[in-house]
Amino acid sequence: MILPIYAFGQPVLRKSTEEITENTEELQALINDMFETMYESNGIGLAAPQIGKSLRLFIVDGSDIEDIKPTGFKEVFINPQIEDEFGNKWEFEEGCLSIPDIRANVTRHSELTINYLDREFKQHTKKFDGMAARIIQHEYDHIEGILFTDRIAPLKRSMLKRRLESISKGRVNIDYKMKFPNR
Ligand code: ZN
Repeated sequence: MILPIYAFGQPVLRKSTEEITENTEELQALINDMFETMYESNGIGLAAPQIGKSLRLFIVDGSDIEDIKPTGFKEVFINPQIEDEFGNKWEFEEGCLSIPDIRANVTRHSELTINYLDREFKQHTKKFDGMAARIIQHEYDHIEGILFTDRIAPLKRSMLKRRLESISKGRVNIDYKMKFPNR
């Protein structure tokens, strides 16, 4: 089932998320719906708050990205915890399904270690770098109530203020389902 993506301005994007305690049929169905929703909107990552669920859960699929390591980078992260971020800081232009038509440079560390459960509730501790780390950092921010626009230079952010307000009022052209505040 394709779910609407919650737009900038929706309070759920700012809430602190809850740990998932049980591997249920509902959880598996939710993960399937999240993949379907992400593919429909051509995303490479999607976090639970973006579909209105305040849970520590996000999914990624960067398997179509050229040169991404590991190849076939498709994963479910349940109750993830970034243990450490390190390596050089690098800048990259990010976008977000909850903030359509806005892209801006964000500086992040190039490497990280993360603990998480996969969709079978198997525990992993893995190291990621480059684009894989970048996608994880962006999605991890979502479950911490942080958006990439919080991390851009203040001047750029003030330049984007009106466009962000327009998105929160539903004034945006998109070809996927969205849920705007107060609607
Ligand atoms: Zn995002």
